[in-house]
Parts: sequence; C-alpha cells; structure tokens
Amino acid sequence: MSPGWRHAGGMTDIKNVTVLGTGVLGSQIAYQTAYSGFQVSVYDISDEAIEQAKTRFAALAATYKREVRRASDETVDAALSRISYFSELGPAVADADLVIEAVPEVLEIKQETYEKLGALAPEKTIFATNSSTLLPSDMKAFTGRPAKFLALHFANRLWVSNTAEVMGTAETDPAVFDTVVEYAGEMGMVAIPIHKEKAGYVLNSLLVPFLTAAASLAAGGYSEPKDIDNVWRIATGAPLGPFQIYDIIGLTTPYNIMSNGDAGAQRLGVWLKENYLDKGKLGVASGEGFYSYPATA
Ligand code: NAD
Repeated sequence: MSPGWRHAGGMTDIKNVTVLGTGVLGSQIAYQTAYSGFQVSVYDISDEAIEQAKTRFAALAATYKREVRRASDETVDAALSRISYFSELGPAVADADLVIEAVPEVLEIKQETYEKLGALAPEKTIFATNSSTLLPSDMKAFTGRPAKFLALHFANRLWVSNTAEVMGTAETDPAVFDTVVEYAGEMGMVAIPIHKEKAGYVLNSLLVPFLTAAASLAAGGYSEPKDIDNVWRIATGAPLGPFQIYDIIGLTTPYNIMSNGDAGAQRLGVWLKENYLDKGKLGVASGEGFYSYPATA
C-alpha cells in the first residue's frame, strides 16, 4: 500500500530544498520533495548528468503513476514543474532553506562538496547528508556550520519504503534536528529520530546482524535458505524471510560488507561468492539468487 502524502506548508519554514547529486537516491529525494509541494533545485556536476537527471525524473513520474495511490497525470507533472536544474552550485543553493546531499559515498567528494557549499549557501541553510556508511561527524568539520548539519537517511524506492532516519552529531542544534524531523513528515516520510550517532542507523544495525545470522545457518549446513525463511515468516508473522531480503537487496552489497568484516564474516563472503555470485545468481535483478524470478517485461 502506498503511503498518503502530507503536503508542504506545514509547521516548518522550509520551502526551498536543494538536492546535490541526482543519482539513484538524489533523484528520488528530489522528486518526492517536489511531489510533496516544495520548490526543488537539483545540482549535479555536468550538463550531461543533468540531462540524465531529467530522464530519471520522467521514469519516476511514470513509476509514481503506477505505484503511488492517487498519483495522476496532473500531480506527477506538477511535481516535475517544481524542479529547477543547475550545474553550478552557487545559483543552486542561493535561496535554499535545506540542502540534502546525495553525492557519491566517497569521503573526499563529500569533503570537497561541503567546503564549497559552506562558502556559498546563505546562513539560514540547513545541510543534511544522505550518506549510508559515513557518520555526520566524519563530515561536520567541512561544513563551516556544524550546528546546522545532520544526517537525513532515506531508503531506496522511498515512495514505498518511506522511512527517513534523522541523526545529528553532538554539535547539531536541537531545534535544527526537530525541524528536519518535522520536514521529513511534510515530505511524506515516517521520521525515525536517532538520538546519538550510530553507524548503520537503526535499520542496518538490525538488518546486517540478522542477515549475517541467516547466512551462518545456511553456510554452516544447519538448514536450507527456504526453510530458514519459512520459520522466520511463520513464527514471527514477518512478510519476508532473510533470504528473500537478500535477493531484493542484491547479493553484491552483502558480499562486499562480509568481505570487509572479521574472519567469520569473510568465510560467509566466500560461501556467498562460490555458491551464488560466481554462478551469476545476484538476486531479483539477475532473475535468480536464493530463489528464481520470472523474467519481467
Ligand atoms: P549514485 O552514484 O547513483 O549518484 C551520485 C550522483 O552524484 C551522480 O548523479 C553523480 O553525477 C553526482 N556527483 C558526483 N560528484 C558530485 C559532486 N561533486 N557534486 C554533486 N554531485 C556529484 O549514488 P547513490 O546511490 O544515489 O548514492 C548517493 C548517496 O546516497 C550516498 O551517500 C549513498 O550512501 C546514499 N544512499 C544510497 C542508497 C542506495 O540504495 N543507492 C540508499 C541510501 C543512501
């Protein structure tokens, strides 16, 4: 079921939102923000990237019409009309109340981005990072305004998986934190306030150990993936078992996480690689992972 949206004009003073980076997540954040009634500026590094962004937004408009309750030609087109495009940072942030950063997950790129942004954005602007693996503390020194900086972390396919984890540093102004929690609700998300910095936020702090435990059971020969999924679904009422979740995520990211872990995690990575990745079983996207999926048109 698609979530119902609340529209802009709520309790915060945020009206103009700028999104930096228009890749997988940046395009979704920008489109959802515009769909919720905010004026959105998007910035990316080149005119070519901006052209790609326009293609992504057109695809998102079509997806919303299919998957979001009450989305119509009018509402998806109105969202598109609220987006402005920039390949220069200064004009993109000139009147921003909030900047949401979704540039690549590389500390040097984030650092450089925040140094430029801190110099160009007006004093009022709040900065939020969508980083999945870096802590806001890793970046705050580059922003020039640690009191107005925090993490606002979205999930992929955010029009369906509409959580927004909000996590500040010890220096984040509590009023700024509260504003961003409120804003997340205004843009159709369920805000998840996190009161102290935690790598992996809430979701991955739960999900990574859970998925690792499931892989240990299968790799250790204790039980089959489908039976492990069955016990989890039947005993807890959860809609999906861990191996169904692996297939949706795609097996490459869990493999990378395992390979960077301790010796036990690395052994699980070898198991995943030899039995699945090396056989082209990458999850739903490749048509097969722990389960097989019918080809989609
Ligand atoms: P992506 O590679 O799809 O997109 C990155 C975009 O940033 C590209 O459009 C690229 O042209 C642009 N870019 C590169 N350098 C830039 C710069 N200096 N300034 C502005 N834009 C620049 O990446 P993504 O998957 O959208 O991830 C972006 C951020 O979102 C990362 O921090 C990631 O951890 C986080 N995130 C990703 C997911 C996911 O499922 N993909 C989920 C949650 C959070």
